Amino acid sequence: MLDTRYYGEFGGAYLPEILVSTFEELGTAFREAKDDPGFWEEYKNLMSTYSCRPTPLTFAENLTEYFGGPRMYIKREDLNHTGAHKANNVMGQGLLVKRMGKSRVIAETGAGQHGVATATMAAKFGLSCTIYMGELDVARQRPNVFWMERLGARVVPVQDGSRILKDAINAALRDWAGNMDDTHYVLGTACGAHPFPEMVSYFQSIIGQEARRQIMDREGRTPARIYACVGGGSNALGIFSSFYNDPTELVGVEAGGQGLETGRHASRLASNDGTPGIAQGYKTYFLQNDEGQMQDTHSVAAGLDYVGVSPILAALWEEGKIRFEAATDGEVLAAFTLTMEKEGLIPALESSHAFARAFKEAPDLGVDDIILINQSGRGDKDIFTVADAFSDQQWSKFILKKAEEYGAELVS
Ligand SMILES: *Cc1c(COP(=O)(O)O)cnc(C)c1O
Repeated sequence: MLDTRYYGEFGGAYLPEILVSTFEELGTAFREAKDDPGFWEEYKNLMSTYSCRPTPLTFAENLTEYFGGPRMYIKREDLNHTGAHKANNVMGQGLLVKRMGKSRVIAETGAGQHGVATATMAAKFGLSCTIYMGELDVARQRPNVFWMERLGARVVPVQDGSRILKDAINAALRDWAGNMDDTHYVLGTACGAHPFPEMVSYFQSIIGQEARRQIMDREGRTPARIYACVGGGSNALGIFSSFYNDPTELVGVEAGGQGLETGRHASRLASNDGTPGIAQGYKTYFLQNDEGQMQDTHSVAAGLDYVGVSPILAALWEEGKIRFEAATDGEVLAAFTLTMEKEGLIPALESSHAFARAFKEAPDLGVDDIILINQSGRGDKDIFTVADAFSDQQWSKFILKKAEEYGAELVS
């Protein structure tokens, strides 16, 4: 029987008939793994030997001093292999693929980070790998395409629709429907039809388990607030997971782009521009027009550029358990710069949304309050965007010089 878990009115599994049996198979494999006492140990062992778990909790001493309190802690998901929390989900799904005895994985990717993580997992587990990516994203994200291909994945540029992430998801689902016997679809965030939201947040809950233990060891109490950026919602659900029964306030930070009032953003909940709907197999808040057509989103952080949000977060938001805010591109670049200058950390532009909101609210908190910020990934990947944002002349010269060299090569 197809299990259709709901969170409040959100979630479910709205699937074409042809995919029902595959989702049933996956749901069963996931349930069995979860009930197997050895599985979580196997997962933790993999993550501590292949990635960098437990990731450290860093006390941001200089930022704390700069703001005159609160005491700021940073959970270092940037130290995972491939540079972000995405490894937690992808490696966990890799273990499930082994249990199901499948030989091939497929995935969708927008900015390319999830594609690189999936290609890495496929190489490690000896699986064949196909990544679907909108044609526009393939052109914009060449460095990630380069690494996916070097890692042995086949990258398929999707030419349908607006040739971006949502079109890549549809193409991946079509592939899955045709190749269910040997193929698993590695969804990248806590969205999609059941069991994906539950499964992805299960693997990401390792962040919260570690963070709660680490902060209790250091401070003997839980934080006043936790900040995490929200694209699909997987890193936020991961770090929030161990704090639902604490007096801790949980803050999800969406991409405010050029400002909520401009309409050029990717905020579904904080903006009130999102409306409930059903797409891509599940019900949640989407940025869509009156006819249910998905809208274009805008953000300096490609990884937050998504029209839907995890159904688990939508329900927790409606219940008042999580507060949602948005940070603008400008606030994000300022927070990125301050974090680099004060702490020597390079947060991903996605993660910098959480920093930006935390910095904005710091003056409201007491000196002895504790806040925890999830640094979901590292910002090295953002070199092109950041160099553009700060109009770095030397960087432009470097790129032009490279282009000239290639031009000369192409001519000769
Ligand atoms: C992909 C990505 C995100 C957004 O994904 P969530 O599922 O919302 O966590 C956030 N930060 C980084 C660094 C990412 O790569």
